Amino acid sequence: MDYYPLSAYLKDKFKEKVYKITIDAGFTCPNRDGSISTSGCVFCDDGGSFSNAHSRLLSISQQIETGIKAQHDRFGANKFMAYFQAFTNTYKPVNELEKIYKEALKNPQIVGISIGTRPDCVDDKKLDLISSFVPNYETWIEYGLQTIHDKSLKWMNRGHDYATFEKAYLQTKRRGIKVCAHVILGLPTEDKEDMLQTAEKLAKLKVDGVKFHALCVMPNTKLEQMYKNNEIKLLEEDEYVDIICEFLKILPSDTIIHRLCANGYAKTMIAPLWLNDKWSTLNKINQKLKEL
Ligand code: SF4
Repeated sequence: MDYYPLSAYLKDKFKEKVYKITIDAGFTCPNRDGSISTSGCVFCDDGGSFSNAHSRLLSISQQIETGIKAQHDRFGANKFMAYFQAFTNTYKPVNELEKIYKEALKNPQIVGISIGTRPDCVDDKKLDLISSFVPNYETWIEYGLQTIHDKSLKWMNRGHDYATFEKAYLQTKRRGIKVCAHVILGLPTEDKEDMLQTAEKLAKLKVDGVKFHALCVMPNTKLEQMYKNNEIKLLEEDEYVDIICEFLKILPSDTIIHRLCANGYAKTMIAPLWLNDKWSTLNKINQKLKEL
């Protein structure tokens, strides 16, 4: 059994490796600024699920230039996607969004754009703007879905339900924008069967891409308190490997896998510690897929 990683998809399309440059464009999130709640999702840390706090001090152009130089020096990279990652990257009026996205796209080495957001933070105007990039750029929206189960969305204080995702998904697909769904495995409200129901739904919807995360505990989050109070149990590495492989078996083989396992948490993550060795987990996933 095999899967189609984003790196392979981009290489097939652009005939060379394409690297993502992560951008913090100074957005916030309605689940933090009080519009929905002030406490945010239970797992979200101060950076809005973004690891580079220094970026916010730089302009978008500076972040792009710094990212391009670093990846060119390190890998000889020439082509890049601008990845708006921190917080909710459609959470501003459409005229401001246009300026923000176009500042990133004006660099001639940028061949694509990927915008991370919540499904309740898009509308026709915003999606029309983003779809105007489709003819000239690889264009993705990454929606934080996490799970199809409303009981789990409620548990994590997500502030929207599954139906909101499905509505946003259909509005987005209709415009030719590619959609990646972020999924969290190991939510304490779910067993394996629940998680695989998310796979079945995504397969039925034919989402273009999926990005996987294991539920992990970061400092200064509600999840940290729950973990320290022994209220939750996290997945063991072999459980994660098993569920990922079953999930991939259900998805169509051309689903583009943006990530199988998150890394970059080594310095601050509290648990599970096996996530610190991303390569070991990836090797185990690949080994199990071979067996399958
Ligand atoms: S939607 Fe994203 S940025 Fe907002 S609280 Fe949840 S994880 Fe954090």
